[in-house]
Amino acid sequence: MSHPSAQQSDPTAPHFAPATPVTPLSQFVLKLTSRCDLACDHCYVYEHPDQSWQRQPRVMAPTTVEAAALRIAEHAAAHRLALVRVILHGGEPLLAGADRLDATAGTLRRVIGPVTRLDLRMQSNGVLLTQAICDVLVAHDVKVGISLDGGRAANDRHRRYANGASSHDRVLRALSLLRRPANRASYAGILCTVDLANDPIQVYEALLAEEPPRIDFLLPHANWDRPPHRPDGAATPYADWLLAIYRRWSADGRPVPIRLLESLLATAAGGATGTEAVGLGPADLVVIETDGTFEQVDSLKSAFHGAAATGLDIFRHRVDDAAVHPGIAVRQSGLAGLCATCQACPVVRRCGGGLFPHRYQSGSGFDNPSVYCTDLAELVRSTAAPHRQVPARRADVLSPAVLDDLGAGQGSAESLRQLASVHAGVVRALVVALSPAAAGDPLAADGWDLLVELDLAAPGAVRAVLGHPFVRHWAQRCRAGAADELPHLASIAAAAAVHAGADAELAVPVRDGAIHLPTLGAIAVSAAGDQARLSISDGAFEVQVAGRRVRVRPDLPEKPDGWQPVWQACPAGRPVLLEDTDPYRDCYDLPVESRLGAAVAARWRAQVEEAVSWIDTEAAGYAGGIHTLLRAVVPLRPDPTGRSRSAAARCAFGAVAIAPVADAEALAVLLVHEVQHLKLDAVLDVCDLFDRADPRTVRVPWRADPRPVEGALHGVYAHLAVADLWRRRSAPAAAGHFRRYRDWTAGAAEELLGLGVLTEDGQRFVQRIRATMDGWP
Ligand code: SF4
Ligand code: SF4
Repeated sequence: MSHPSAQQSDPTAPHFAPATPVTPLSQFVLKLTSRCDLACDHCYVYEHPDQSWQRQPRVMAPTTVEAAALRIAEHAAAHRLALVRVILHGGEPLLAGADRLDATAGTLRRVIGPVTRLDLRMQSNGVLLTQAICDVLVAHDVKVGISLDGGRAANDRHRRYANGASSHDRVLRALSLLRRPANRASYAGILCTVDLANDPIQVYEALLAEEPPRIDFLLPHANWDRPPHRPDGAATPYADWLLAIYRRWSADGRPVPIRLLESLLATAAGGATGTEAVGLGPADLVVIETDGTFEQVDSLKSAFHGAAATGLDIFRHRVDDAAVHPGIAVRQSGLAGLCATCQACPVVRRCGGGLFPHRYQSGSGFDNPSVYCTDLAELVRSTAAPHRQVPARRADVLSPAVLDDLGAGQGSAESLRQLASVHAGVVRALVVALSPAAAGDPLAADGWDLLVELDLAAPGAVRAVLGHPFVRHWAQRCRAGAADELPHLASIAAAAAVHAGADAELAVPVRDGAIHLPTLGAIAVSAAGDQARLSISDGAFEVQVAGRRVRVRPDLPEKPDGWQPVWQACPAGRPVLLEDTDPYRDCYDLPVESRLGAAVAARWRAQVEEAVSWIDTEAAGYAGGIHTLLRAVVPLRPDPTGRSRSAAARCAFGAVAIAPVADAEALAVLLVHEVQHLKLDAVLDVCDLFDRADPRTVRVPWRADPRPVEGALHGVYAHLAVADLWRRRSAPAAAGHFRRYRDWTAGAAEELLGLGVLTEDGQRFVQRIRATMDGWP
């Protein structure tokens, strides 16, 4: 088959309306300047056949920026794009200066921001970066990629000033500026052009030393007319160079995302790539030149003079017109846009024929495999499968549809009901598994017998107590060998008997001078020894306190001496315990608060009720999780630094622990955040989303230290919900908070998808998370 090559397009063609359906473009390279302060000898803009830069204005005029922004906004609105990416480019965009950058970014945000999510980026050589410019970049949330080819010797090989002087020191200074905490949010990463003359491991180490959030490697631009240098006729020297880095990077635990390598890994799972360099994803990118003309991807300039031209411009043409230009449309057409050799190639879905410009040859245009074909084939062959083929527990308890629904973030009432039922099943199984051991302990044995009896006579009462979050923590401790804690089973049975209104006599353990009845409260007793005898009847119990019998009826307001009923809030008519007595609540890394005074408890109660009411009205999609899963809030001690603190634990499903917060809205955000952890915990109870045997860790944007995969997955799922909450709020700081949480979620989701540790279900779950974000207007 053949397809139109750029050579065959007519650059003087008049404005034409698209006759075929338009595949929208979402990436726009804005050539803010057309000159550069460096004279790199591998530059495709200045050193390759296309010399069209000479007729371009040096800097894009403000009116051109405005017109470009309007075109992009028009396109995004027409196609309801959830996101567009604009990359400020050159030449060297920093030559525009701080004021012009400020104005340009301001125009883009003002015009495009109301229509869609704008991901604003810049690619720069860095030599002119100053703190004043960083201030502008941070203020407008512009993320900057810096070009660096390795250490000094590697970088000096090509990246020099016109007089031959090195640019290395100034680039390192730029990177140190971007590493400053105040600027770090604008540090996108490093772009490195491969040169076989450089040692790959030294290059990798030099780049890593700059602590980039991301690295990308670019093969030097070449085509069949200008083939790449291959020392001694080696067949795959570029693959060999990159694979040396791949092996070291894998051995290092992939300390930083490397886009090309991660894209190769992603394609092995049938996932999307993050680069045009490999894979069959559509190349949905167009260039807007300094004078406002639309051009195809500018690396085409390496092919022949005028190769990137379209004959279209932003003043007379819409982005839709550019999108159907043959040279752009063909890069969007996947397999159909490739030559016959590539179409028949067994690795075409992962390779994708390589970068479009690398296919060029005089005569046949772009209807060829990549000039890097052998290297690409070797790279595909040598990079591992991206998701674990481990024998994993599949979602046979939770159907794939439920898993998809939960992965989207909120979860329907039915999905949440299934999660609650998963947890109930887990706890019941844990308690049943303790019965043989319970037979050897007198208190636990009596407790077991009573529980079995009640399970027949009053199953709802047993369910209510086994569903108490800290019963699971107790059961897991016993399963792990804490035999001296088995007698607590008698307390669990006693609590169930009180709920059931049953008659029972049994001994329960005394701990720190009190007996503890899960879901009900604690009472200080005078028993000398480690147990006390309870008489239970009519929803009440009697126990010996300070030499006299005390009768406690937990559902009545009277509080006999020593009785500490568990405090309760009642949001939307459903009780949520304010748990400050259960000894098994201390299962977090944070210190739990001891018994609350009545006034403090009343404040907690009011805040929880107000927070849930806020969620009901402002974030109704998350209310189901709160109402179905939240059984208890554990007050934590205030953090000495005043920071907000909250936690959830898999061993205490249904509870969230929270330090005091200023107001109900802040509490609402924490509740939603922590209930996301509960949801994911219940999913992980029955379904493997990642390979637990894989020790690798993940770099996440919200913490300096690498996280285990489970921690990263939890962070992604919780931050998805928090981003969604901020997205809906109109407070002045909301947009900033939203962007931060969204970027955290997106960044870590990409890390997880690229790491190769997720199972098939895990890959699908995280892709659902990503799809939710893509759907946000
Ligand atoms: S810094 Fe970039 S634009 Fe400038 S000469 Fe080097 S490669 Fe070309
Ligand atoms: S390996 Fe070669 S033939 Fe196969 S898809 Fe890639 S460029 Fe085409």
